[in-house]
Amino acid sequence: MTDILPPKRKGQVVVLCAPSGTGKSTLVKKLREEFPQIGFSISCTTRDPREGEIDGIDYSFLSVEEFNDKLEVGEFAEWAEVHGNFYGTPKKPIEKMLFKGMDILFDIDFQGCMQLMETMPEAVFVFLMPPSYAELKSRLEGRDTDSKPVINRRLRNAMKEMASAPKFEYWIVNNDLDKAYSELKSIYLAGKNRPCSNPGLLESILSTWE
Ligand code: ADP
Ligand code: 5GP
Repeated sequence: MTDILPPKRKGQVVVLCAPSGTGKSTLVKKLREEFPQIGFSISCTTRDPREGEIDGIDYSFLSVEEFNDKLEVGEFAEWAEVHGNFYGTPKKPIEKMLFKGMDILFDIDFQGCMQLMETMPEAVFVFLMPPSYAELKSRLEGRDTDSKPVINRRLRNAMKEMASAPKFEYWIVNNDLDKAYSELKSIYLAGKNRPCSNPGLLESILSTWE
């Protein structure tokens, strides 16, 4: 065993995308419970809070005017209109977390993912799929948080979202929750061993050569 300390690991960004109702929030919650040190990007949205959602924890809930003001001054790393509401990722908290070397998890839609694929090519992009349309419908209805028209709109959009799946590096089918979770966890842990997460490591080991 050698006592040479490796250089500090760089925080990795994991971006999770899925049609609404697939189980993204459920999996994000499990990953954050097991790894509380993972930073989570709290998005801004113009949609109304659901029962139990807390401003500043689940989302920053904004009016359309407030959202547009932030958009105009370039406060978002990405943004999109999703199911008739605006959503955006604030840049500053992400920059701060990355500066501290923290890993960050993003829960955003496919349009936002396409933007981040351009601006954050080192991020890990994961697409989560429902096992079938019938199961997705049953999960959206069973969640009991959205009205029938909202559910129908989300189901219509799901097809378009599924069409973006080939652009992602990893796919996870959320059929059995425990299996899907262990796959997400494996992807997260494997990301820590990518060369881009370990700048200077190779050089530091090579420097031990005579
Ligand atoms: P999303 O964040 O993708 O919109 P949620 O995490 O809110 O989806 O999950 C939608 C509903 O499906 C919730 O009621 C959740 O408990 C349920 N759910 C999530 N994963 C599974 C699974 N593997 N099997 C059955 N139900 C699931
Ligand atoms: P919900 O309203 O169900 O919380 O989220 C609806 C969709 O908006 C989900 O696909 C979610 O991933 C996406 N979303 C949440 N925050 C953001 C964001 O900051 N940017 C983008 N582009 N999509 C987001």
